[in-house]
Amino acid sequence: MPVISTLFQHAPSPLERLILPEFESAGLSVWIKRDDLLRMGPGLALCGNKWRKLKYNLAAAKSAGPAQLLTFGGAFSNHIAAVAGAGAAFGLKTIGVIRGEAPPGLNPTLRFARECGMHLHFVNRAAFRSKEDPAFLYRLEQTYGPFYHLPEGGTNEKAIEGAREIVTECQHQQPALQADYWCVSAGTGGTAAGMALEAKPGSKVLAFSALKGDFLKRAIAMLSAGYPTAGDWAVITDFHFGGYAKHRPALLQFLNHFYQQHGIALDPIYTGKLFFGLVDLAKQGFFPKGSTIVAIHTGGLQGIHGFNERFGDLLHYTP
Ligand SMILES: *Cc1c(COP(=O)(O)O)cnc(C)c1O
Repeated sequence: MPVISTLFQHAPSPLERLILPEFESAGLSVWIKRDDLLRMGPGLALCGNKWRKLKYNLAAAKSAGPAQLLTFGGAFSNHIAAVAGAGAAFGLKTIGVIRGEAPPGLNPTLRFARECGMHLHFVNRAAFRSKEDPAFLYRLEQTYGPFYHLPEGGTNEKAIEGAREIVTECQHQQPALQADYWCVSAGTGGTAAGMALEAKPGSKVLAFSALKGDFLKRAIAMLSAGYPTAGDWAVITDFHFGGYAKHRPALLQFLNHFYQQHGIALDPIYTGKLFFGLVDLAKQGFFPKGSTIVAIHTGGLQGIHGFNERFGDLLHYTP
């Protein structure tokens, strides 16, 4: 079994200029951090911010002893797929506790997870809500034996350590680049919180919420509390498009066009909404002229296949 730290040497991911007419006319210099190109293991699951968030967790899991991971997620979860992929890449057993009854046929995310060797443990929605309850975790341990526990979405201290490196890596790659804004899509806010710890004074992390509701502000505040250097950050709530699996023709058109123009595949759940939002804010004059923006492509590529299978090939590209 190779040492984890040697396998996580794919970084740094490229940091590229992103030229769009809307950015040019707003006088913005926009960069894209291609964490979608950080890939490991089978398929496209272990990439992007899931790669960042699992990096130190996998190292800890290996050194802690019990060579199995247990985590939680929905049936289309990028995190579930990433943990399954990590298990296959590193020879760790994985158990995925999945929200909802077992469906008659598995969607592409769960098929992939099972092919990677993940054991799928379905629980109904009510039971799933007690996922942080020690008694529930204890019962799972009695069933499966000791495991390294990763919370839903994978956000914990070690994930935040990994997410900090998105910013430090950019700073090493382009020391002269003074980002005014770091833009990132957010689900649990773990990635944004990690980035905010490294953002320099005078720069701001903008977390684009992929979900409805305003829970993210509290989540990011909690996740970054207790760290000394938390930079400035804000949550953008205007581009969730109704929630996870919701979509609008305008978003789909944007995604297909973006792929045609730049050859970069965005996912419809997270990164698509981020880049759609960025362009929209640029058009509205949200960013002062002359601003430098770094937007993170956090991956999410595994979801494209499932989205197309579910809704009928609305996205005309495969990553
Ligand atoms: C999981 C995920 C996110 C959300 O990350 P959080 O740390 O939970 O905020 C963003 N983008 C992509 C592509 C993801 O898969």
